[in-house]
Amino acid sequence: MRIEQFQEMEKQVIQRGLCTACGLCVGACPNGCLEWDMEQEEPCLDGECLACGLCGLVCPGARIPLPLLEEKFFGRTRTRQEQYLGVHTALLRGYAQDEAQRLASASGGLTTALLVHALERGLIDAAVVTGMDQRHPWRTRPMLARTPDEIRQAAGSKYQICPSLAALRQAKPGERLAVVGLPCQVHGLRKLMASVEAKALSESIVFILGLFCGANTSYRVTEHVIAEFSDVNLGDIRKMSYRGGPESQDVVLHGADGSETTIKNSDRISNYLWMIRDRCRMCPDWTAELADISLGDIFAGGQDGPWKKTPHWNGFIVRSPKGAELVEQARLAGAISVGPLEEPAFYGNIGFESKKHGAVYNLRERSRHGWPTPDFGCELDWHARKRAPFHIDLKD
Ligand SMILES: Cc1cc2nc3c(=O)[nH]c(=O)nc-3n(C[C@H](O)[C@H](O)[C@H](O)COP(=O)(O)OP(=O)(O)OC[C@H]3O[C@@H](n4cnc5c(N)ncnc54)[C@H](O)[C@@H]3O)c2cc1C
Ligand code: SF4
Ligand code: SF4
Ligand code: SF4
Repeated sequence: MRIEQFQEMEKQVIQRGLCTACGLCVGACPNGCLEWDMEQEEPCLDGECLACGLCGLVCPGARIPLPLLEEKFFGRTRTRQEQYLGVHTALLRGYAQDEAQRLASASGGLTTALLVHALERGLIDAAVVTGMDQRHPWRTRPMLARTPDEIRQAAGSKYQICPSLAALRQAKPGERLAVVGLPCQVHGLRKLMASVEAKALSESIVFILGLFCGANTSYRVTEHVIAEFSDVNLGDIRKMSYRGGPESQDVVLHGADGSETTIKNSDRISNYLWMIRDRCRMCPDWTAELADISLGDIFAGGQDGPWKKTPHWNGFIVRSPKGAELVEQARLAGAISVGPLEEPAFYGNIGFESKKHGAVYNLRERSRHGWPTPDFGCELDWHARKRAPFHIDLKD
């Protein structure tokens, strides 16, 4: 059923727990009458809704017609072989050639390197990214980055909900944009791009870089972790990184007095596991299956130890001709290093289990009890598959 006005979306999506907090309704509303409620982490009406229906049309909360969108953007639906990773033309590994960028980034720095390359070569005018709030440095904020430095500032994963797509409303008419988004954000963007109702905004999106996403949490969970595992007062934090720096994969809090406090990544994760946003428990897309390029970590292990992340590398997936062209251009320009990555490398990743098994299981349970669930327009498979150990020599 078509949603004509925001109040209707509130009833059908937000109040039923299906909002992913992507921010797209705020970013796309042509009337500018939506705001982001920072406390509730939901959109809210801040003016008069003109009932144009656009927010309901593009919202990825309740309905994501995956096969239709695959057909529209990749010219085909996924094969059986592609059931877990989505439509793709290449499975790759790599990193940013700029060593400082590589070490300062979440994984191998490819996301930032591709954006900077695209901006410096004039392929885009700006990029929608996710930064940290200056007044509350442990909270995220949507950003429209127009310079390489602004793109670099946003490097690093924030394991926290951010309505990043709200930044689309800052774009000027005619600006060409790249967007970095989590899988649910890419769902919304593709719904927008498939519609005829928001032609100008839709045509301004040049390419989409999707991040793998195992799950996500509220800023309140970050506050909880800080209180539980450190003595730092929120008001004393000047800067926070979820992955602390060259040698650290831990949360690092930088105090106004120059102090540094570390919270172990394992502590953060053990706490987060129980406080995942409810909508994320119903999300079966792990690798941003509708993006032009999808980027994540590489995990190795399985035989003689646990599966572990390999720092400063990206595993990534090229899906569209546009994505392939961007990777090739950046490689030829010496901005990134690229090599092949075997398919089993993707299956030991922490996000694979959480999404392809956990979320699909949760969806089935919820449907069985008649609870609200998003509709992905297809049957979702929930078979256990034998894990093959995976080891990799990542020298180059
Ligand atoms: C919530 C979350 C869950 C993830 N889960 C997994 C997983 O299960 N498995 C896996 O392999 N990888 C996962 N990733 C992806 C991984 O952490 C890296 O972001 C990815 O490998 C890209 O690394 P990079 O070095 O290329 O990125 P960088 O060059 O460091 O750039 C990171 C980009 O991500 C954007 N970004 C950061 N936080 C967010 C956010 N909250 N929402 C939207 N955009 C954001 C920034 O704007 C920046 O442009 C997750 C990321 C997030 C944010
Ligand atoms: S997009 Fe249209 S329907 Fe939605 S809030 Fe804005 S004016 Fe109302
Ligand atoms: S568009 Fe995004 S933020 Fe807005 S209601 Fe839908 S899921 Fe929530
Ligand atoms: S788990 Fe899904 S719904 Fe939650 S933030 Fe990640 S992509 Fe969005």
